[in-house]
Amino acid sequence: MRELLPGTSASRGMALGRARLVQPSRYLVDTRPLGEDEVDAEIEKLHRALATARQELHELRGKLHGALAREVNEFIDAHSLLLDDQELLRGLDDLVRIGHYRAGAALKKQRDRLAKVFEAMDDPYLRSRKEDVDQVIGRVISALQRQTSREERKLAARVGEILIADTIAPADMAHLAGNGLLGVVTSSGSAYSHSAILARSLDLPMLVGTRDALSTIHDDDLILLDAERAETIVHPTAQDLARYRAWQREAAQEGRRLATLANAPTRTRDGLDIHLFANAEMPADLAMARARGADGVGLYRTEFLFLKHKGLPSEDEQFIAYRDLVLGMGGLPVTIRTLDLGADKADAAGLALRGEDNPALGVRGVRLSLRYPAVFTTQIRAILRAACYGPVRVLVPMVTQPDELIAVRTLFKLARQELKRENVDLPEKLPLGAMIEVPAAALNVRALLEHSDFLAIGTNDLAQYVLAADRGNDGLENIYNPLQPALLRLIAYVIAAGRRAGKPVSLCGEIGGDVNFTALLLALGLCEFSMHPSQILHVRDRLAALDRAELRRHAPRLLRAYTHEQVEELLAGIGG
Ligand code: PEP
Ligand code: MG
Repeated sequence: MRELLPGTSASRGMALGRARLVQPSRYLVDTRPLGEDEVDAEIEKLHRALATARQELHELRGKLHGALAREVNEFIDAHSLLLDDQELLRGLDDLVRIGHYRAGAALKKQRDRLAKVFEAMDDPYLRSRKEDVDQVIGRVISALQRQTSREERKLAARVGEILIADTIAPADMAHLAGNGLLGVVTSSGSAYSHSAILARSLDLPMLVGTRDALSTIHDDDLILLDAERAETIVHPTAQDLARYRAWQREAAQEGRRLATLANAPTRTRDGLDIHLFANAEMPADLAMARARGADGVGLYRTEFLFLKHKGLPSEDEQFIAYRDLVLGMGGLPVTIRTLDLGADKADAAGLALRGEDNPALGVRGVRLSLRYPAVFTTQIRAILRAACYGPVRVLVPMVTQPDELIAVRTLFKLARQELKRENVDLPEKLPLGAMIEVPAAALNVRALLEHSDFLAIGTNDLAQYVLAADRGNDGLENIYNPLQPALLRLIAYVIAAGRRAGKPVSLCGEIGGDVNFTALLLALGLCEFSMHPSQILHVRDRLAALDRAELRRHAPRLLRAYTHEQVEELLAGIGG
């Protein structure tokens, strides 16, 4: 029987496919006791997972060189020692053999026991070793899940499926997209999460906040994912399917109409030229950016290079990726953002996520990079080398105060000197910009402008921090709303400060590519937008219909609004 489940559209489009459920229980440890006849197989499974974890650490060590190796080897040594700790290993075996624990449950039990031991220590260094225990056991559990997760294997083997899950991590999304996935429906999550951004980048329709998805949909149910109307239809009727086919035809037609805009200038109705840049993560984004007439790359998120990589990408690997990016844009400017790991962007390299209580307020973005100067310098060297191949700008994420920019400049200077000694070609200049995504950075933007050549407003995070509302939390939609007056005032303030300082300001959060916000951003004074390349033609089309001078006149009223509802009403009144 047909059932309709409402959700929130995170990536537009439609898809028809069979449901593939990923129950959150997959991530939980199985606590059912083992039968006597299962013990040997379980021990074998446990040992295999331990061996995989050892092998991963060994490979990680092999990939590190120079100063980086000195910095990271210390934690690899500590982790390797733990993995070979006889007491730990005997304890695990006993738990399985005698206690009839499953491997995952035994690992969790040992983790809890060791954590207690470390927590009770007086010495702060020894106490901090609890994190190592967490990371090592986490590595083994993840190796174990890779062995046992039937869902994952089933998924990989199938094509033409729509994933139904509670949430999905960006790394999993990247992996599954390579396996022919048609779309994603999650029961929680938000349209501003990194997974949602990735889905848009992959052109994968995605609905979030479909609360009853996991309880209503069954494996193999036929479903129509309609991210245009923000709903999932289980067991669609002939009428639904006809609508799907009509959408396919319309989408193809609209695509052809928009394609005619690919070579058109980006200009408002009253003749102001606007710059549209692309947010890019992967090579396909570059081709799309060029095909749609982007003015360059406004945001290249380098963390995706780290996320899909096991361990840390080497200087040469990074250099090749950045150089290809620069060459791929054929002389147009490319903005490379330095590593922005932490919070919801957990990393395969194990740099971030050290059990912080509040990772979104913790060591992420430039804070993390500055904690690992050797890792950061590897990236800086790769960027400097790539910048000889075309115009490059460097963007620093999560800046809070000027000293961070000063530290980054110093590292660039040192890396330049080092490369010069090695007789490596260097670019003449390399503009450095700050992302404005922390409220303090926005309010104190004049201080940051002293040390920046340009700014990029990251509204995804700025909204999260101004509103104290997690961008990935679907229960906060009424608060996490980009029309909130407090956010708009900060955006307008930053744009005005940049103009007064004579330095370019772009906006690269998701609202930059959302045509529903184009009029508003023009009204606030924005002239440089950066967005996923799939949005460029839509935004160009929208801009051509807007009168910038007229919209600017409404800015004071918009900025005086008290609520996001009022902003919405005002916008409707001025044709936004
Ligand atoms: C932002 O925060 O707006 C942004 C563009 O960066 P990211 O989404 O990668 O955090
Ligand atoms: Mg951000």
